[in-house]
Amino acid sequence: MLELKGTQVTNQIKSNLYPCAHCGESGTCRNGESESSCSLCIKRNELKGKGHSGIACGICGGLGQAEPMTERMNKRITPMLSLVIVFLLLFLIFWSLIIKSDYFNEVLAFASAVIGSVVGFYFSGNKNS
Ligand SMILES: [Zn+2]
Ligand SMILES: [Zn+2]
Repeated sequence: MLELKGTQVTNQIKSNLYPCAHCGESGTCRNGESESSCSLCIKRNELKGKGHSGIACGICGGLGQAEPMTERMNKRITPMLSLVIVFLLLFLIFWSLIIKSDYFNEVLAFASAVIGSVVGFYFSGNKNS
């Protein structure tokens, strides 16, 4: 009853939001016994025990609409991953400096090329990636 509702409709309205299947767009979780909220949402609202009802949906935060998980991941993980890469490369540069590596010039050239492309990618507005 809840899961198919609105899947076609949302594609037309907003590409990056979908009606929350967990609460059926109501924003209130009724997935527990006798219309009470499920244990997951109770936990997310930091309440203890069972039998709470009318609790805000923990999946969409009570909005009734949620961002697709994949989109959320893309938004968060890609910048985080590139940050990690940049930090790793900076660390590599420092490390080569400290141990006075014979490959310091190579490391520096490689790292600055990668950092340059990562930074360029994010500051160009992702247009020609
Ligand atoms: Zn919901
Ligand atoms: Zn729930």
